[in-house]
Amino acid sequence: MRHHKCGIPKNIDKKIPGSFLFIIPVFVISFNSFLFFSCVRAEPARMEFILGTICSVNLYGLGSESVYNEIFGRLREIENLMSVNIPSSEISRINAAAGIEPVRVSEETFNVIKRAVYFARLSEGAFDPSIGPVVILWGIGSGSERVPASGEIAELLPLVNWRNIELDEEAKTVFLTQCGMSLDLGAIAKGYAADEAAAIVKKALISRALIDLGGNIIITGEKKDASPWRIGVQNPEKQRGTALGYLQITAAPNESKTVVTSGTYERYFENDGIRYHHLFNPPLGYPAQNGLISVTVTADVSMDADALSTAVFVLGFEKGFALIESLDGIEAVFVFEDRSVRTTAGADFTLTDKTYFIKK
Ligand code: FAD
Ligand code: MG
Repeated sequence: MRHHKCGIPKNIDKKIPGSFLFIIPVFVISFNSFLFFSCVRAEPARMEFILGTICSVNLYGLGSESVYNEIFGRLREIENLMSVNIPSSEISRINAAAGIEPVRVSEETFNVIKRAVYFARLSEGAFDPSIGPVVILWGIGSGSERVPASGEIAELLPLVNWRNIELDEEAKTVFLTQCGMSLDLGAIAKGYAADEAAAIVKKALISRALIDLGGNIIITGEKKDASPWRIGVQNPEKQRGTALGYLQITAAPNESKTVVTSGTYERYFENDGIRYHHLFNPPLGYPAQNGLISVTVTADVSMDADALSTAVFVLGFEKGFALIESLDGIEAVFVFEDRSVRTTAGADFTLTDKTYFIKK
């Protein structure tokens, strides 16, 4: 249903299912990748539920309580700015003013949206932060998921178009030019939050840390024995925390690296035996179906890896592989429904589950 209430801001129906703010089913908590039989202590030193997921941080005994407080405070701050589920957030304010007026936002919200638009352009719209109307319509993870009628989807599709996000760098305003448009930073803001947590770790001169925001992982510094960190890639058919293989990652002291996964197996629902997941193909308004189950991306910047893991998943293997290979310092692991696994040339990946196989 299309709404035409743009002249009356207070009455805009944002179409958020009633239960969305309150019901957070257990299956939405994602652990797509995780620390894998490392010899440092793997249990997080602190865990909190933020950004719709379990956020864990381990400073390996090198950080004080106040550093943990600063990190988790910062994560909440970012959630309060960028969540579509918090009516007072800057993203909610931008969405409520769609088709009406530009909204002035903080520099950081502006920069995350700007980066999201950058990845939308780079991926030719496979990643699109204006996917909000489609996310709300399907309601995946909201407790009121359903398969919409094709007409309902078709009606919303004109609203999904990153080119209609107007950014004014000087005024720091964001304007969604069409009534009914809405931003959703679910595919990029966790990455930004992880980068901000890592920045606090570095500022505090903590030499080693593991940050895991529901599958958005950052490691900083070297392990105690200087061996590479091993980050498991989730086996999509097994219990959470069961790997099909692992990536080896090294970071110099005071440097950080990130591993981010987008997959179909954590946030989905089934209807008539068909699985509908949360990674949408923007031009179609349907979950992307291309034989992939997950894409894991490694990079230096978690915000970039987050956007790219979603973009590449939606692009599919051929275009996604080409995109990753065109970017410096970024690698990827692709897991397919037929149990094949492919990697980009520079990924240091070891397969451990022999029911899967590496395809060159
Ligand atoms: P990713 O692949 O990184 O992202 C997938 C998500 O991005 C989808 O869920 C959708 O929101 C969006 N998306 C889908 N297709 C595309 C596309 N083609 N291009 C761009 N974006 C797309 N979850 C809750 O259950 N309750 C909450 O209150 C809640 N609050 C959140 C607040 C913030 C600030 C953030 C960043 C996330 C929050 N989440 C919440 C989780 C969020 O709804 C997403 O499900 C989650 O970020 C998905 O992350 P992922 O790593 O599994 O997948
Ligand atoms: Mg993502």
